Amino acid sequence: MKNVTILGSTGSIGTQTLEVCREQGFKIVALAANSNVAILEEQIREFKPSFAVLGCEKFAADLKARVADLPIKILFGEGAICEVAANPKNDIVLNAIVGIAGLKPTLAALEQGIDVALANKETLVAAGEIVLKLARSKGAKLIPVDSEHSAIFQCLQAGNKSEIQSILLTASGGPFAGFTTKQLEDVTIADALNHPNWSMGKKISIDSATLMNKGLELIEAVHFFDISEEKIKTILHRQSIVHSAVEFTDGSIISQMGGADMKIPIRYAFGYPTRLKAKKTNFDLTTLTGLTFENIDNTTFRSIDLARSAIRQGGLFPCIYNGANEAAVELFLQGKIKFLQIQNLVQVALENAPKNEGFSLENVFEADLWSRNYVKEQLNA
Ligand code: NAD
Ligand code: MG
Repeated sequence: MKNVTILGSTGSIGTQTLEVCREQGFKIVALAANSNVAILEEQIREFKPSFAVLGCEKFAADLKARVADLPIKILFGEGAICEVAANPKNDIVLNAIVGIAGLKPTLAALEQGIDVALANKETLVAAGEIVLKLARSKGAKLIPVDSEHSAIFQCLQAGNKSEIQSILLTASGGPFAGFTTKQLEDVTIADALNHPNWSMGKKISIDSATLMNKGLELIEAVHFFDISEEKIKTILHRQSIVHSAVEFTDGSIISQMGGADMKIPIRYAFGYPTRLKAKKTNFDLTTLTGLTFENIDNTTFRSIDLARSAIRQGGLFPCIYNGANEAAVELFLQGKIKFLQIQNLVQVALENAPKNEGFSLENVFEADLWSRNYVKEQLNA
């Protein structure tokens, strides 16, 4: 039995997290979302949290009216999300907010020594060192929910850190694996959202199509596992069955496999270091026609190399990588730029980023804002 707060509860990860909570009989302390009042109302009626938070006052007022019959406190805004994240009643906070908006709530929970199950990868990319330092100093656990990082985390139970030869980070390749630059020129928003294996929120679906998701995950892995980027190999594995692997110094490769089901890493994050019992596990390996592993075309898809360069430069560069990407994805989803412009914009943002030695939280938010403005200015230039 755990007391859980879910941030981003109406999204793809949030709703799957609630399925796991239902399965496990966990108590929900608070739910937070941006704007989806109808889904949040349904969730409140089923899970009866003490608090619910929405992005702005208008949505909160609407929700308040809808659930006036229930003993629940309705709040709004980023400060309130941080407040519910830091509630000492929480055993664990699962953060499934998308983008840099997840950063302050993660820090708020850790500050109180509360464990965080982290789906919100942008948080670690933009401010990995700050987040991890705080977790260590408060003795709070930061547990990966991203399927690859959950896989690596599980594989690492098989050996010591000094025995790691390399981490094999697998990528499905998204809807455009194998495409040439020419073929990518005119792909549409609908094409890019059409992921072959996973059903996810829009932002991460576009990130999967550009392979920015793998770049973000590379930086995420550097932080989660305190390992240099040179030791992380990215591999195209189209079936999304091997969720990642670790090669040890004796030549053994340990991998974690399973269906494309985020409830598996969510369960592991909640149960760690024990394993929770799933209602049903019915994945049948004999239904597979094969598992393939290929090199990634890093000339057509430059996202991973850009991430490597950002993390090698360190400091605020990963934050610029993330912020420029968030802004470019937004523009792409608004139909204002073409698909290939996403990686171009991230590249020019990294090339033109001001050198800044500082690495405070304030510096991170400044760099984030700089990168977003820079991307928008390129559009008007
Ligand atoms: P989504 O768009 O489906 O859901 C995002 C959730 O965050 C929604 O509940 C939304 O209301 C909320 N939200 C957005 N902005 C907010 C804000 N400013 N304040 C408060 N709430 C806000 O996204 P998703 O696919 O569930 O992804 C969530 C995060 O998990 C992302 O960082 C993504 O990269 C990561 N992730 C997702 C998957 C997946 O399978 N979907 C897998 C691995 C990692
Ligand atoms: Mg992933």
